[in-house]
Amino acid sequence: MKESCIIIGSGPAGYTAAIYASRANLHPLLIEGPQPGGQLTITTEVENFPGYPDGIDPFTMMNDMKRQAERFGTRFLSGIVTKVELAKPGADNQAPVTHKIWVEDTEEYETDTLIIATGASAKFLGIQSEEDYRGRGVSACATCDGFFYRKKTVAVVGGGDTACEEAQYLAGLCEKVYLIVRKPYLRASQIMQDRVLSNPKIEVLFEHNTLRLTGENKVEGADLIFRKGTPEEEIRHIAINGFFLAIGHKPNTDLFKDYIARDEEGYILTDGYSTACFYAPSLVGKEGVRLPGVFAAGDCADPHFRQAVVAAGSGCKSAMEAEKYIQNAEK
Ligand code: NDP
Repeated sequence: MKESCIIIGSGPAGYTAAIYASRANLHPLLIEGPQPGGQLTITTEVENFPGYPDGIDPFTMMNDMKRQAERFGTRFLSGIVTKVELAKPGADNQAPVTHKIWVEDTEEYETDTLIIATGASAKFLGIQSEEDYRGRGVSACATCDGFFYRKKTVAVVGGGDTACEEAQYLAGLCEKVYLIVRKPYLRASQIMQDRVLSNPKIEVLFEHNTLRLTGENKVEGADLIFRKGTPEEEIRHIAINGFFLAIGHKPNTDLFKDYIARDEEGYILTDGYSTACFYAPSLVGKEGVRLPGVFAAGDCADPHFRQAVVAAGSGCKSAMEAEKYIQNAEK
């Protein structure tokens, strides 16, 4: 059976798209992906989503969104999309076209419209030590793994809001937290900077980069380089039990690279105010041509704002555009 609307991803963008698409009678099928609830579920508390004056824990919030989508008829499939075959734009391609996707390589689905809400994943530094000590002291999620470092010393890498939030969270559990920042300043919002800089358990190491991790079978320390390439350059060692990465994210869009135009970092390019995607080869040397019935919402298409509320807003737009596309095709 051909679906009207398939949504890939279960963060704020995916669930909001599902709420709108189901209320528009598209009877969407949402494929949850590897991290049900999305990136938000690895944060501690959501304080900036409107409507929650006292903050809310992310699991409850995402579960509420899911229940809201379910109430209007969204169907959910737990699994990972491993392959797609998207219909290309063309004169002989009358809307609605058929897009195909495969879940876990075996189950094939066909759909009129596709909403991509696959989000972004944590980045790593790319040093060998991260591989050597993965699962033995290296983590990209303080909320998931912080518990194991109670009363111990840890380091967090990064100078943005995520790093500050993770450092704050870990300071509540650990004896001491180093925040390793490569620049002489933090990039985080002022409120987060103030919290970190005034926390006596957090020591910010500005202008430091990580060279390697050390330790017998698990992380026991890190060699850092201070002011690399200057006369003050110096290698410094810190004793730590855990090493947390918080240096940004990579959009989960590789699956679509042959069909959908993306920027250099892999974020999906959408058509101005719209969430419509461009057919990848169409952007080479000429104006973009839209891929019929394919829309992108949330962090997979947003290198700038990356906020849950913005993702939810774009999820709403993508569902409204999918509805319009189907209505026009039926005329
Ligand atoms: P950002 O891109 O904002 O920050 C990444 C940080 O990691 C920067 O300080 C960057 O350094 C550093 N970094 C990147 N690569 C390396 C590297 N190879 N070595 C060392 N350091 C590195 O990402 P975030 O995840 O912090 O935030 C993403 C978005 O989400 C932002 O818009 C943020 O405001 C938002 N956010 C909001 C929250 C809230 O409001 N509660 C919570 C978390 C995130 P440099 O500055 O030198 O480039």
